[in-house]
Amino acid sequence: MFEYAPAPESRDIVDIRPSHGLFINGEWVEPQGEERHKTVNPATEEVLAEVAWAGEADVDRAVQAAAKAFPVWSAMPGAERAKYLFRIARIIQERARELAVLETLDNGKPIRESRDVDLPLVAAHFFYYAGWADKLAYAGFGENPRPLGVAGQVIPWNFPLLMLAWKIAPALACGNTVVLKPAETTPLTALAFADICRQADLPPGVVNIVTGAGETGAALVNHPGVDKVAFTGSTEVGRLIARSLAGTRKKLTLELGGKAANIVFEDAPLDQAVEGIVNGIFFNQGHVCCAGSRLLVQESVAAELLEALKRRLGTLRLGDPLDKNTDIGAINSAEQLAKIRELSEAGEAEGAERWSPACPIPDRGYWFPPTVFTGVAQSHRIAREEIFGPVLSVLTFRTPAEAVEKANNTPYGLSAGVWTEKGSRMLWMASRLRAGVVWSNTFNRFDPTSPFGGYKESGYGREGGRHGLEAYLAV
Ligand code: NDP
Repeated sequence: MFEYAPAPESRDIVDIRPSHGLFINGEWVEPQGEERHKTVNPATEEVLAEVAWAGEADVDRAVQAAAKAFPVWSAMPGAERAKYLFRIARIIQERARELAVLETLDNGKPIRESRDVDLPLVAAHFFYYAGWADKLAYAGFGENPRPLGVAGQVIPWNFPLLMLAWKIAPALACGNTVVLKPAETTPLTALAFADICRQADLPPGVVNIVTGAGETGAALVNHPGVDKVAFTGSTEVGRLIARSLAGTRKKLTLELGGKAANIVFEDAPLDQAVEGIVNGIFFNQGHVCCAGSRLLVQESVAAELLEALKRRLGTLRLGDPLDKNTDIGAINSAEQLAKIRELSEAGEAEGAERWSPACPIPDRGYWFPPTVFTGVAQSHRIAREEIFGPVLSVLTFRTPAEAVEKANNTPYGLSAGVWTEKGSRMLWMASRLRAGVVWSNTFNRFDPTSPFGGYKESGYGREGGRHGLEAYLAV
């Protein structure tokens, strides 16, 4: 491997306030309780800031602010709402470098990813839904689609600002107001977004941000003033929310876990497939709900493909996420690292063979090397459970029918990838795979115009595209 000189991005561009309040009704307010929590840089364990912990009374204040803002915001002509969304999108672009550095510091993802993937997509989502705000009558949901009211939105830590954009942009375009809770370990870009709302002169109460843990999320989704709940996170918490909302008038969308199959046929261009496998499972340290965590490779090319894959993994650079050469950043938290370790140990104990490239691990912070398991059986935990880390389980197949059978043998159904040079085989596979997204000769490709969502235990509802509007309209 070539030795590269360090190329660290400067963190001077971000000015992190040591302590943050809650963003309610367009103002920074102090929570009613005393509790505060520290958010750390997972690559160094350095404390970045303290954030407020919203209790039930704070959530109530935020929901009331959103309810008060709703009549004005929803009655505003779509073209006027669009102006705010376009303004937000442009400010995001202007502040993209600062936001990318902040995201990398708080989340641990490589700057190359936050700068080149997350931030461009965040801005693109706001631009895209700004374009819909005055065209809702032509979206296919009736002539006069109405917003729902107050949306309570709870997001995870793997793509903090991007998940915020997926949730807030369509909600506002449709005329809803929002209370959003970011994840406990990654609140900083959501708080920076609150500043952007002020910079854009968004009317007070249209967007409210409450920080906190699971209890804050639970208080939000169960608040009687919330009309629509949108959640992205674990299937376990998704189930809890579905149960608590059953029988209420609240509309619910859930985007939950995945255990996607990335299927490589013998006629696929293998070098490209290797890149797709790497992107599928090692992008964002595998903290991706639609990650290609199960590689299904046709038996006739399995040995050749694995050799090429291992060679490629030997060239990945793990380390300082702010270094522009880094491919693999830090694991987001000590808890997530413990979960990845536990499942990897279970993989070995159940008889799969574990391999990682020689890879120096920094002394401080939370790290896990890229890992490949071969000899994996469908019954193994590493083939069934979402690891949410840089761990690939390799299985083989002989026929297309067997590939479909194995790919669908999961309680999840969020995504899949198929690598083949034959268009007919691609379509044959796509029509049989029970997955919300099927990528063809690529993986982990996102676009605001394209709907995203799951089957089975991966949740329900779609985000993105025209379909994403439906979740925020009374149709
Ligand atoms: P969670 O589902 O617990 O967290 C997602 C969000 O929900 C966070 O903001 C969390 O707050 C909040 N939350 C937690 N409990 C509740 C509740 N009862 N009611 C309302 N909101 C709640 O995921 P974790 O962060 O604990 O990760 C656990 C596992 O979930 C991962 O290992 C991974 O396998 C999977 N996961 C899947 C994601 C996906 O996109 N499909 C995303 C993230 C995780 P807080 O952060 O304070 O816990």
